[in-house]
Amino acid sequence: MTPETGTEMISCKEATRLASLQLERQLTLRERLALRMHLAICVGCRRMERQFRFLRQAAGAWMSLKD
Ligand SMILES: [Zn+2]
Repeated sequence: MTPETGTEMISCKEATRLASLQLERQLTLRERLALRMHLAICVGCRRMERQFRFLRQAAGAWMSLKD
């Protein structure tokens, strides 16, 4: 659901894409803002994003252990 408010509001699908993209590369400022704005209004995606963040940390910890 994307209401036409004039501000750049992304869909849940787009928010998920951005959150998973964080695992591969740093988001641009624009992407970060769009994701943040979506997370502010969407509980489901907030939960989803936390899991991605956990994954990223876990992957990072694993990689530093490996070295
Ligand atoms: Zn959402």
